[in-house]
Amino acid sequence: MAYDSDNIFAKILRGEIPNNTVFEDDEVLAFHDIAPQAPVHVLVIPKGEYVSADDFVRDAPADVVGRFFARVGEVARSLGLADDGYRLIANTGAHGGQEVPHFHMHICGGQQLGRMLPKG
Ligand code: AMP
Repeated sequence: MAYDSDNIFAKILRGEIPNNTVFEDDEVLAFHDIAPQAPVHVLVIPKGEYVSADDFVRDAPADVVGRFFARVGEVARSLGLADDGYRLIANTGAHGGQEVPHFHMHICGGQQLGRMLPKG
């Protein structure tokens, strides 16, 4: 699937749409989800153009992938989630329920999150 540079996270990265930033460096942006599904719900995205987790781990250089996941951990820790734990989610493609076609990790926490998937 080709990268669609009109997707909402691309617009956020270009500064065309505001975001509530948690962390930013040259390669990564982390910001609060606009419709949080947990007391803490932050999205972490690479600044590179990757449609999904599948694209990211296949096409991004290993050092970029490594630094991305290191940042995810640092952001979670900075949000105070490390001690009690949290959930990382990367919805991927149609069956994964991915809505925005720019790879992103959800960091969700702040309470016991229950079942990983709905029953049935
Ligand atoms: P996914 O279903 O994994 O693609 O998740 C997309 C997420 O992006 C959802 O949790 C949305 O609430 C979130 N989202 C959509 N638009 C924005 C926005 N402008 N700012 C922050 N989060 C957004």
